[in-house]
Amino acid sequence: MKIGIIGGGQLGRMLALAGIPLGIQFRFWEQDRDCPSSDVGEVTVGSFDDHSLIENFIAGLSYVTYEFENVPVALISAIARHVPVSPAAHALEICQDRILEKETFNQLQIPCAKFLAITNLTDLELALTDGFPLPAILKSRRFGYDGKGQARIASITDAQAAWQAVGAVPSILEQRVTFDGELSLISVRGHDGDVRFYPLIENTHLSGILSKSIVPSKLVTTALQSQAEEYGRRVLKHFDYVGVLTIEFFLVAGQLFANEMAPRVHNSGHWSIEGSETSQFANHIRALIKAPLGSVATKGHALLLNLVGEIPDQNPILAHTGVFLHLYRKSGRSRRKIGHITMCKEDLRSVDETSLEVHKLIDRYLQF
Ligand code: AMP
Repeated sequence: MKIGIIGGGQLGRMLALAGIPLGIQFRFWEQDRDCPSSDVGEVTVGSFDDHSLIENFIAGLSYVTYEFENVPVALISAIARHVPVSPAAHALEICQDRILEKETFNQLQIPCAKFLAITNLTDLELALTDGFPLPAILKSRRFGYDGKGQARIASITDAQAAWQAVGAVPSILEQRVTFDGELSLISVRGHDGDVRFYPLIENTHLSGILSKSIVPSKLVTTALQSQAEEYGRRVLKHFDYVGVLTIEFFLVAGQLFANEMAPRVHNSGHWSIEGSETSQFANHIRALIKAPLGSVATKGHALLLNLVGEIPDQNPILAHTGVFLHLYRKSGRSRRKIGHITMCKEDLRSVDETSLEVHKLIDRYLQF
């Protein structure tokens, strides 16, 4: 069996690494031939707008998925006429647009920060003079990631600079909430409607980029996990979703506020490769090929650190037990995720101790 993946970054690479043990082969569609996924499958090289490549790309494929959410919806819809694509184009379309995403949360009665669609600078100034709650944050509706296309607004005098900072494009104005933590819920839904939820993950960002993820989180109670799962179930059912879906939440005074969702495997779930009975990647593949989903039980406590910018000296890291280094074969560049480290231990104390040791080795790769 061969699966096609649109995008050839590290997520594609880790999806293939999870599917290869099942004898599955992979083909990626990526603009760069020497992409991180090229080690683990064939690559169709070209622009996502070049539909003349579709025929070659889909030849011999049983299923297609994608590994990032800025894939043109038109491409997914065109491929879906020939080969089953999961998650479906509709979910992708909503997740690409922060306003449609938030409207979906509203429709499904999932709380989120107050928001408003902004199409030009006048809209923004009017919203602020009309008493939109401050502080606020302006984000481009589309194509934002890792904190890009965002600007903070403390008062109306920031309006013009914020509008320029997001690129003067259609945007969303959001109330800035004061949160006790950021949590993500990774869920997976199979073809038969079977649903599994990983435990809520506590995430720390630095300059808008995910820096650290912890599972289980001290912030999470059984009630909070159930609440998150209830919200997750609503979204999965709404889209008749197949595959892994991630929802990011803010924890505000004990309440979950949905921030955004991603129709794909997620950086905050990379710990699941070593820390779960079935990783997010393996479960996404299972959902895709109509196989039973695997257990999402955790194997103790896990902590994930992203490596950003530069490749660290690997031997001192590998010298530790229960510490797993993943490098994506990307060249070092400022603000670029080039790998991650997962620490997986039976108890929290051991994870904390190991994390202190590992931090000493890689501290300078965590400053960005
Ligand atoms: P996003 O691209 O929406 O995930 O935003 C990147 C980061 O900015 C989030 O992980 C938060 O740390 C912060 N952020 C985004 N939106 C808000 C908000 N409405 N209130 C407070 N912080 C926010």
